[in-house]
Amino acid sequence: MKYLVTDDSKLARLSLVKSLKANVGEAEIFQAENGAVAVETMKKENVDIVFLDLTMPVMDGYEALPKLLEHNKNAKVIVVSADIQEKAKEQVIALGAQLHVQKPINAEKMKEILELISHV
Ligand SMILES: [Mg+2]
Repeated sequence: MKYLVTDDSKLARLSLVKSLKANVGEAEIFQAENGAVAVETMKKENVDIVFLDLTMPVMDGYEALPKLLEHNKNAKVIVVSADIQEKAKEQVIALGAQLHVQKPINAEKMKEILELISHV
């Protein structure tokens, strides 16, 4: 299983990677600082599970989401955002995200997320 953590905040990425490692151990975890880097990583590595921030420079999460799925339609995308407005949530689900969760994600919340997406 390959994972990709996408966020323009280095601190947010490190926090997510830490929560992820607490659950999946030494899996392959890639990082991207914007949507464009995430799409490039998807092309090269064909990752299975993507954590995606929405507000990022260069290419935001809304634009990256369909491009990620274009390269791997079986990838599961979890949008991780501070924006919990219902409209944002509906929009990313319509674009193909499996889940929309609010920042921050600790190890326990990560466990719940991984369990949820293993059933879809
Ligand atoms: Mg951001």
